[in-house]
Amino acid sequence: MRNFLTLLSAAIVVITGAAKADAGDKRLRVVIIDGQNNHNWRATTPVMKKTLLDSGRYTVDVSTNLKTGDKAPEGWQSVAFPPDLSKYDVIVSNYNGASWPKEFNEQLHKSLFEQKIGLVIVHAANNAFGGWKEYNLMIGMGWRGNKGGDRLILDDKGQPVRIPSGQGEGSGHRYTGKFSVIIRDDKHPITKGMPLEWLHNNDELYDNMRGPIENVHMLATAYSKGTKAHEPMIWTVGYGKGRVFHTPMGHDANSMYCVGFQATLNRGTEWAATGAVTLPLPATFPNADKISIAK
Ligand SMILES: [Zn+2]
Repeated sequence: MRNFLTLLSAAIVVITGAAKADAGDKRLRVVIIDGQNNHNWRATTPVMKKTLLDSGRYTVDVSTNLKTGDKAPEGWQSVAFPPDLSKYDVIVSNYNGASWPKEFNEQLHKSLFEQKIGLVIVHAANNAFGGWKEYNLMIGMGWRGNKGGDRLILDDKGQPVRIPSGQGEGSGHRYTGKFSVIIRDDKHPITKGMPLEWLHNNDELYDNMRGPIENVHMLATAYSKGTKAHEPMIWTVGYGKGRVFHTPMGHDANSMYCVGFQATLNRGTEWAATGAVTLPLPATFPNADKISIAK
């Protein structure tokens, strides 16, 4: 009996020791997926990785799915693709390319649906996978032809207007430049405390985005001089029990140097992973008149 107790207490010490080591690191585990995009992922992934790491809230792996014959830059660090989703709290997609393996897609939407992982969609990631039904539900809306689903805008009173699939134009960016981001829900953890209007650095202002638009919660819009409409600019999607954060901003590294972009990425990623936001807004956050840049 004494031997058994000795063994038992030794086992407890080992277990407690292991638990302590894990509990010491409260950082959320992010995996950025990239490697194919009609945008310069080699330039934008490092900006997002630095932004997430500098917040102190995350560990960040990158999983790069290269085209056959393509190369990552020298010194590029990547875990295998597809990544093991059980190792992460949230995926940040910087990917717009060939289909992912079917088994991985199944695992992804199942894990998201059951809230085992969160998902963040950045800019052209919403151009990807038009034929993947579950993906369209996850992202809410994205860059599609005019038959790729409904379009959602806000009228001048801030009321949602839904334009049916097939009516009007397909997606584009009929305005590029600096633009004002207008917060439409200042109580949400991601946007709480932001100025109700803030100026974003030069970027493509995506318009006419299309999709099933189910369980979409609009956090911000931007008025496009190209479409003369208030276009969706930051939103969340409820997918089963899962949480998706979606920003169509972030065309290039320059647009990502906007402190407003960086703060929304950091807070949106935290919210997608946990449903709450602890990260404060930086003191250098842009306001209605001035952009704010951090490299
Ligand atoms: Zn773009």
